[in-house]
Amino acid sequence: MSDQNMVRIMCPNLTCRKVLSIPEMARGKTVRCKTCGTNIRVPSNKPAPQTPKQDSSKS
Ligand SMILES: [Zn+2]
Repeated sequence: MSDQNMVRIMCPNLTCRKVLSIPEMARGKTVRCKTCGTNIRVPSNKPAPQTPKQDSSKS
């Protein structure tokens, strides 16, 4: 499968603000803006499932 999901992030550099398309596998890593050279941290969009099991009350 070569269908790779791309993530779009905007360069935090206010004088650049280039929208970068990076592969989703780069999440949690740091990419570099090709335009201004700023290192951008790619946010990992994993919603941590912090739902505790509801078996605290034993029936
Ligand atoms: Zn930039």
